[in-house]
Amino acid sequence: VRAADAQKAVIDVKRVGKKIGIVPTMGALHDGHLSLVEASVSECDYTVVTIFVNPIQFGPHEDLTKYPRDLDKDHRSLERCGVDLVFAPTPDEIYAPRHSTYVSPPSVADRLEGVLRPGHFQGVATIVLKLFNIIPADVAYFGQKDYQQSRVVVDMVADLNLPISIQVCPTLREHDGLAMSSRNVYLSPHERQRATGLSEALNRAAGMFRDGEGRTRIIIEEMRKRLYAAGVRKIEYVEIVDPVTLEPLDEATPFSIALIAAYVGKTRLIDNMRLG
Ligand code: AMP
Repeated sequence: VRAADAQKAVIDVKRVGKKIGIVPTMGALHDGHLSLVEASVSECDYTVVTIFVNPIQFGPHEDLTKYPRDLDKDHRSLERCGVDLVFAPTPDEIYAPRHSTYVSPPSVADRLEGVLRPGHFQGVATIVLKLFNIIPADVAYFGQKDYQQSRVVVDMVADLNLPISIQVCPTLREHDGLAMSSRNVYLSPHERQRATGLSEALNRAAGMFRDGEGRTRIIIEEMRKRLYAAGVRKIEYVEIVDPVTLEPLDEATPFSIALIAAYVGKTRLIDNMRLG
């Protein structure tokens, strides 16, 4: 469906008092995505899933062209979940030739991913606001997997007084702890093995905190050791931060978030966990 038609359909549903949920995704759907969809289907009367690989949130040397895409399979999965509308626009439909308006993201976008992926969160904030305007939903579902992204969206919604509530859902993991991600298909069997180092390091951090270690310097040092031991050598960051501001902490609390970004081979992976 076209943007204007999707918008009209949703406005019609809204008019009769139904609660509308939106789940924004880039497709290549896995069970992590589907857990957000299930939350929406169970809590809302009408669920819209958007599938759009947003070109403006990719850097010039990132994986935009080879990002996994499988629209037919995605449609079949979403049908089984009882989704009411799938909105999968083309880039031209979202970004007209003269498109030139962008959202300047909130300050939580300035650290971590924002430093390593300049412009990424401007791209995210812009597409999320556009999708919220096309699909005027009551609730939007995001994953904790992209923790900083969820913080950017929550702060944007507050700062711009958007009439939508944001629900952040837990990270779904494979049996060995690896956070589900569309990008996991890039991993060779050997890399797939090494990739478990991220969740191992995060679990170790939570374990150390549980056992009484509060000094983030010590915890981070141990996390780095774990990553190295697992064969994850290209670490971009390992941090323990305040859950709201994402500022680094000297002393951890149960609410602190440990975050990792690292390359396994050519694949960039991120993961995070609350310490307490
Ligand atoms: P993406 O398609 O990667 O843009 O992700 C779409 C939404 O699904 C985002 O809100 C992600 O945080 C969420 N998501 C991705 N992976 C997971 C996961 N393993 N568990 C829960 N949510 C996830």
